[in-house]
Amino acid sequence: MKTPLAYLLPGLLSLLVACSHLSDKNAEVSVDNLKRICSTLGSDAFMGRKPFTAGEALTLNYLQEELQKIGYAPGFGDSYLQEVPVLEATSRVKGACTIALGNETIVFDAPDEIAIHAPYPAEQITIEASELVFCGFGIEAAEYGWNDFEGMDLKGKTLVVFINDPGLYTGDPSLFKGEEMTYYGRWTYKFEKAAELGAEGILIIHEETGAGYGYNVPRNSAISSHLYIDDATVWDRCKLAGWISAAAAERLFNRLGYDIEELRRQSARRAVNAFPMQASISVTLENTVVRNVSHNVAGIWKGSVRPEEAIVVAGHWDHFGIGEASRGDSIFNGAVDNATVIAWAFEIGRLIKESQIKPERSLILFFPTAEEQGLIGSAYYTAHPIVPMSQTVACFNNDIMIPRGAMNDLTIIGYGHSQLDSLFGIYADKQGRYILPDPEPESGLFFRSDHYSFYKAGVASSWALGCYDSQTHGKEWAEKTYNDFVRNVYHTPHDNYDPTWDWSGVVQDIELTCELIRYLSRADSPYPKLYK
Ligand SMILES: [Zn+2]
Repeated sequence: MKTPLAYLLPGLLSLLVACSHLSDKNAEVSVDNLKRICSTLGSDAFMGRKPFTAGEALTLNYLQEELQKIGYAPGFGDSYLQEVPVLEATSRVKGACTIALGNETIVFDAPDEIAIHAPYPAEQITIEASELVFCGFGIEAAEYGWNDFEGMDLKGKTLVVFINDPGLYTGDPSLFKGEEMTYYGRWTYKFEKAAELGAEGILIIHEETGAGYGYNVPRNSAISSHLYIDDATVWDRCKLAGWISAAAAERLFNRLGYDIEELRRQSARRAVNAFPMQASISVTLENTVVRNVSHNVAGIWKGSVRPEEAIVVAGHWDHFGIGEASRGDSIFNGAVDNATVIAWAFEIGRLIKESQIKPERSLILFFPTAEEQGLIGSAYYTAHPIVPMSQTVACFNNDIMIPRGAMNDLTIIGYGHSQLDSLFGIYADKQGRYILPDPEPESGLFFRSDHYSFYKAGVASSWALGCYDSQTHGKEWAEKTYNDFVRNVYHTPHDNYDPTWDWSGVVQDIELTCELIRYLSRADSPYPKLYK
């Protein structure tokens, strides 16, 4: 599946030879700049950079000043800011949630048996006898020769589907990606697909192994507020979405005469087709709806030859603001998540602009909002971009860079999704580093930062950084310090700036990304292919 970079390589090699003497003269990374930007954005003054708060206004001002300082033009006409309309909805089930089966009516307890919300911009949503249709895993994937919806008209119906994808349940590595979760296994895909098919609702049958977490997670999520892009052009949601607990699903399918485990096994082998369940769901939800506007930030350095084509460097600016105190600290400073990355992006922007080799294509420094709320800013941008997605060559996004010194590895989260992997390989090799494929692909990290919005829009995108093999302290230390961070610091008030950090690993990653950008900004056929 991974084809070599056959058509890129000849050009790349000649460019390397021609430019090797020039790249020596390129400006150097300034660690002072990295520290200055990261310590500022990660300070208490920015109040945890939460969208819609005073912390947003301060962050937007700071990012604009820094873009001006390095000479980048406003990305959106005469503004560095893009308004992102956001809708916040909290759903509450009013009365009973019932499923009618022939003459019988089963009442399901919400949220303890059925965890549903109405991701819809209305204050009351009534679902009246929406026909339930069982649709296997809820997947249509041409590249795997798979279609759970074949021949079904699902308009106005409510789909009932299994979580994850067939590869997990068969253990067959030739089916999807075996036990590695594909995007088709994610609940977000299933929700979007149901909306695309015109369904009125979707219920995912929760199952702990497939979800990777207990039913309490969707249960609590269903009664919490959710943020959505408030824009009809990118609205891709059903009126009703959620989960049914494994026990409740078993009760329902037993009444229909099915053994649910057997049905899952058969579905994973495509031995069963979608079928109407001869049952219908009725429920009313009340939504508390709040409309608000947040902002993406972007600056552009115009290419000298093909300014209408661009490469994007991205890092989300938002974090969690002020929350519950832990050990006397209540400000979620998000220094590692994601102020280090914002600093990384600004230095890349400055170095490319000051390169001896002038970029022929444009470079966009992009700081999306509301990443932590579900990639909202980047999803809005890809629907309303500065440069069309078809002319966006690549997106280099990063997230959670912990400055722990120089690394031997370059870890690619979601390795195997595009030809960028091979390009990274070539340049990492020049640095004496090696590519480490995502060590935990089953956790689906690839789907959880802003490069994924670009990937979905057809652009080769990456989340790549040195992480697991320290040049000074070795692999064990690197893995331990990373895991300690994820367990004890990540998404807590303890994600603070540390003046003793060793930035040499971030410097490596900046130099590496600059090399790729210099190449892609000048190559004849630069668009790296995607793999599904
Ligand atoms: Zn992040």
